Amino acid sequence: MKLSVHVCEECGHTSIPARLICPSCRAVDFREEEREGKGTVYTFTKINISSVEFKHLTPYYVVIVDLPTGERVTGRMAEEVQINDVVELAAMEQGAYIFKKCG
Ligand SMILES: [Zn+2]
Repeated sequence: MKLSVHVCEECGHTSIPARLICPSCRAVDFREEEREGKGTVYTFTKINISSVEFKHLTPYYVVIVDLPTGERVTGRMAEEVQINDVVELAAMEQGAYIFKKCG
C-alpha cells in the first residue's frame, strides 16, 4: 500500500503526516507525493498497558519505520517485531499507519 508524503515547495523537506508549516523553512505550500509504503524498522516499543481506547489491541507495537527514500514514519503493528525488520503499510486506521511484516 502506498502512502502520501508532503513535500515543501520551497525547500523540498518531506513530512509524514502533513504539516501546516514546514519545520525546515517555515513555508506553507506543500505538494503531495506517493511512496511505496515499505521500509525497515528503525526502532519500536511494545505497548502492554495502553489507554482505555486502545486496550483491546494490547499488546501491540509502536514502530518507527525508515523508508528507502529517507522519510521516517511512525506506525503501529500487531505482530512482534525487531529492529531492521522489513515491513510494509497494510492499512490506515483513523489516521494511524498500520504496518505488517513483509514475506
Ligand atoms: Zn521548507
